[in-house]
Amino acid sequence: TYDIHIIGGGLAGSEAAWQLAEAGIRVKLSEMRGSGDMTPAHQTDGLAELVCSNSFRSDDAENNAVGLLHAEMRTFGSIIMAEGDRHKVPAGSALAVDRDGFSAGVTARLAAHPNIEIVRERVDALPETPAIIATGPLTASGLAASIGAATGSDALAFFDAIAPIVHHDSIDMSVAWRQARWNKGGDDYINCPLDKDQYHAFVQGLIDGEKGEFRDWEKDTPYFEGCMPIEVMAERGPETLRFGPMKGVGLDDPRTGRWPYACVQLRQDNASATLWNIVGFQTKLKHAEQVRLFRTISGLENAEFARLGGLHRNTFIRSPELLDPTLRLKSRPNIRFAGQITGCEGYVESAAVGLLAGRFAAAELRGDVMTPPPVETALGALLHHITGAAEAETYQPMNVNFGLMPPIPGRTKKADRKKMYTDRARAALAAWMAA
Ligand code: FAD
Repeated sequence: TYDIHIIGGGLAGSEAAWQLAEAGIRVKLSEMRGSGDMTPAHQTDGLAELVCSNSFRSDDAENNAVGLLHAEMRTFGSIIMAEGDRHKVPAGSALAVDRDGFSAGVTARLAAHPNIEIVRERVDALPETPAIIATGPLTASGLAASIGAATGSDALAFFDAIAPIVHHDSIDMSVAWRQARWNKGGDDYINCPLDKDQYHAFVQGLIDGEKGEFRDWEKDTPYFEGCMPIEVMAERGPETLRFGPMKGVGLDDPRTGRWPYACVQLRQDNASATLWNIVGFQTKLKHAEQVRLFRTISGLENAEFARLGGLHRNTFIRSPELLDPTLRLKSRPNIRFAGQITGCEGYVESAAVGLLAGRFAAAELRGDVMTPPPVETALGALLHHITGAAEAETYQPMNVNFGLMPPIPGRTKKADRKKMYTDRARAALAAWMAA
């Protein structure tokens, strides 16, 4: 017998199971690996397997948003952070782990917990009982179909073309300007102009640029309509982009009074307008190449990126419209979602959303109410983005970053800003925990 069913023993499911079990709730944790099933990226049967890099990224809680998230998760007794710390390998200010020791440590502690039963089985339908779905970006197809049926299949993206996202305060607004094309829809977009030479150099840069390779299993996945990588468009001909996402027509550059030869548009990505995504710029270019090329665009010379472009298979739901503030599926509140399937991105973020889902579920099963952590904290900002602040229509996976938090009011020196975010976060978390 169990009180809650967790499906998926990855980063999020393992953390959720731990949080619930520690709160005295009996958990059944179903993981398909070990029962004859495998995902295209995993290689072992271990819980919380890291499928790619072995890094939890920066551990600097003073100046870095993911470092802050580490610290907040440690405060809540995170098993992912505890085992990460225990299996740390040297990586400067980053937290990198021995992936085998880490996974074995998580597996052993969950298996030994009296409130957790680990069952090696694939689940093919959403349960009717209280449950947390933490099946990740490579959710098996039967369950994905069941989720699609419950959420509307167009709300479940299967292939993920990520466009780069820029911090608003790094855009040079003395060059860029706000205007919608043909002035339809006010001034919703930020426009960055390119002259003829700039445009053709940019197109050549896309063609010559070093690209990431597709893995074998990714090669079979077709591009979605309308999410062709820009470098693939560039290869079709020098004018393709200028008649596609880089059209200049209908946009009046205030510095010249004319339409630019070509233009890059950015669209607001979060409610507080601190983050803007580059429209139509999904790409497989290597990250360093993206930074170099995008900074050749007028207005983006000093752009700081909250996220760079990418392309891989990724099952995630349109959380901002589907989930309530405590990660419950609005249409079926016995179901919570956690991990990358909610549209967060990264090992640490996935585990963090698992931690929150576990704590929300534990409170509910005990008859308590847990208010979401404040949006000034890393946990709260990530949760807020997933469950409402992000634009549902253009929702794309997101790493934790300071742009998800409310801006620091008033004028501040750029050098001081990160520390101001983390100081404010610590104070907000302490006040919330005290209440
Ligand atoms: P997972 O860790 O994938 O866990 C989901 C679990 O659910 C798996 O164990 C799976 O076997 C199980 N499962 C799936 N369907 C079912 C079912 N129907 N029944 C039972 N069990 C099921 N993030 C980084 O921070 N760094 C990286 O380098 C990185 N590289 C990535 C590379 C690839 C190819 C992919 C796809 C993602 C990568 N990510 C990376 C993104 C992401 O952080 C990880 O995928 C992370 O593991 C997500 O955590 P999760 O718990 O949501 O899912």
